[in-house]
Amino acid sequence: MSAVLAAAPADVEEKDWAANREVTLERLRIVDMVHEGKPACRLCGQIVNRLDAFGLCSKTSEPHRQRRGDFTPAKKARKR
Ligand SMILES: [Zn+2]
Repeated sequence: MSAVLAAAPADVEEKDWAANREVTLERLRIVDMVHEGKPACRLCGQIVNRLDAFGLCSKTSEPHRQRRGDFTPAKKARKR
């Protein structure tokens, strides 16, 4: 499964579609699993096991913190 995920998309070209059909189906199945089983961050699209209360992943970049209501600039220490 990990080998399939590691394969570059270019490896599954239409010219050899028949030969790679099983691989293609396997890839589609994995995509379905990801989309159905795990949520994606509303901000960056990162697939995570669990989203936080704001529907975001666990990243703490400025856009992510702003979505959580924290508008403190990244370089400024919070004073409260
Ligand atoms: Zn995110």
